[in-house]
Amino acid sequence: MLELRPICENCEKALPNDSTEAMICTFECTFCKDCVDEILHNVCPNCGGGFEKRPIRPKDKLLKYPAMKDKYSKPVDIERFSALLHRNKDIQPNER
Ligand SMILES: [Zn+2]
Ligand SMILES: [Zn+2]
Repeated sequence: MLELRPICENCEKALPNDSTEAMICTFECTFCKDCVDEILHNVCPNCGGGFEKRPIRPKDKLLKYPAMKDKYSKPVDIERFSALLHRNKDIQPNER
């Protein structure tokens, strides 16, 4: 089951289930749309993959399968990230 992580891993912006700004990579690393567009340039700092919009779980399912409570925060180290970014940012995610 998809983990609904409650905040952006980089800027800690709240990303509740019904947020339209939550983006995830294939490993469910979760960031807000602003960070994905402006800082990460669609390159996950943990795995190098691209992001897609996180699907919203219907309200009736959320009761039985709630969002995660634990907040995971790991602000991006821009210097460390730059090599991974430059290797990947001009390659479409389906070709990485
Ligand atoms: Zn963010
Ligand atoms: Zn990732």
